[in-house]
Amino acid sequence: MTPQDRENIHQANSRAEPPAASAPIRCDVAIVGGGMVGMTTAIALGAHGVRTALIEAEAPAAQEQAGYDGRSSAIAYGSQRLLNALGVWEGMAHAAQPITDIRVSDGAWHIRDAAPFFVHYDYRMLPPGSLPDSGMAQPPFGWIVENRATRISLLARIKTCPGLLHLAPAELADATFGDTLARLFLKDGRHVEARLVIAADGRNSLLRRLGGIKHTTFGYRQTGIVCTVTHEKPHRGVAHEHFLPTGPFAMLPMTSDRDAAGNERHRSSIVWTEDPRIVPLLLSIDDAAFGREIERRFGLSLGHVRPLGKRFAYPLGLLLADAYARPRLALAGDAAHAIHPIAGQGFNLGIRDVGALAEAIVSAHRLGLDPGALSTLEDYARRRRFDNLLLAGVTDVLTRLFSNDFGPLRLARDLGFYFFNRTPPLKRLAMRHAMGVVGSLPKLMRGQSL
Ligand SMILES: Cc1cc2nc3c(=O)[nH]c(=O)nc-3n(C[C@H](O)[C@H](O)[C@H](O)COP(=O)(O)OP(=O)(O)OC[C@H]3O[C@@H](n4cnc5c(N)ncnc54)[C@H](O)[C@@H]3O)c2cc1C
Repeated sequence: MTPQDRENIHQANSRAEPPAASAPIRCDVAIVGGGMVGMTTAIALGAHGVRTALIEAEAPAAQEQAGYDGRSSAIAYGSQRLLNALGVWEGMAHAAQPITDIRVSDGAWHIRDAAPFFVHYDYRMLPPGSLPDSGMAQPPFGWIVENRATRISLLARIKTCPGLLHLAPAELADATFGDTLARLFLKDGRHVEARLVIAADGRNSLLRRLGGIKHTTFGYRQTGIVCTVTHEKPHRGVAHEHFLPTGPFAMLPMTSDRDAAGNERHRSSIVWTEDPRIVPLLLSIDDAAFGREIERRFGLSLGHVRPLGKRFAYPLGLLLADAYARPRLALAGDAAHAIHPIAGQGFNLGIRDVGALAEAIVSAHRLGLDPGALSTLEDYARRRRFDNLLLAGVTDVLTRLFSNDFGPLRLARDLGFYFFNRTPPLKRLAMRHAMGVVGSLPKLMRGQSL
């Protein structure tokens, strides 16, 4: 990093006047989009000596606010290995609730506590020796972590990466792609030159469009209502997913906290898929009424339920980019593939992108090869395409199959549940997929350094 770059960091962080447009910021790799995927990519590259610039439209302080993103994410075991290898996990471990059981059921049977057709996953079904580099006596399936806690830890780790230039707030306006360099033009007049640019700017990626990569997309006519709730009884690490006619309803265990009087508060995060037409009403009713609506769908197995804080709504859809790479440009995370949250895997796929992309770039960097050459990026695209398409297909089929109440279809899927639950090898395979430990794993996901 040049002294000029360091000056630019200082100016970006202090939000002083930007440097003249004639002084380009030069780096090996520039990442547009400092969401959870972009930040993780930046750390993976910066920590391994690749001069990297991370460009994010929002200020870091805004990204740390509770109102910025109300979601919690299921972080799969494999993703945890990568975050741990990059020194990010230690900053978020305090907020990570292990998932030890998953109970999936169809319709409203669970309310009467008499579901004959359900799938139950128990973490003890996978012995530690069957997982890569566990280092844990008996690893859970994964952890539920508030996105806010993950962001705070990522932002803190970014500050300790010497080769990493964090430009935020800074918004991409335009980009050009030359034979040897890509140029990014920011709205504030600065411009960045890099041998490779990575689009991690989310589902509506501007960089993907500027790079001429087309995509396929459609909506599910479903909205995900998300909020944190408190309940009377402890969740004991169990994640629930109930398939209701309007879509899946998930109750995900979170770490407990303390209320104003200092009493322990049991908490979970809900992801409640609803018909978009009734979502405005559900967002506007008072907490007591909202709690009763949750209980109508989830039952009282955790006692009475009340929301804590703001409710958020996310329109749900599928997006698949036609390509993940072209010369000087790679896509990662939701910019490449955005899926339905039915299986809690969107961010986990993004983490797997980070592992494979960082491995390709760092090894090219060490060999003195061009990180933006298609030959460097093709390996990444090949490694990730099948996994992403498979998960997109599975989540799409599950969403369509379970978001309706058509009698014969319901009988067929309930019988499917019944036999699946009694077939341990199939269940173990599904568990390994959900934990992100199937196939050729990037080194960082095996807990190794690059
Ligand atoms: C309801 C719901 C629940 C979910 N639950 C889970 C779960 O349990 N587990 C899981 O693995 N996944 C889950 N997901 C998916 C997961 O949230 C996403 O896959 C993940 O957040 C994508 O991260 P990203 O960094 O790729 O994109 P984003 O989070 O969209 O980040 C993109 C970033 O780019 C920035 N940006 C955009 N344009 C520009 C520009 N022009 N210039 C500069 N910056 C720009 C934005 O400000 C933003 O910070 C869920 C999704 C939803 C909707």
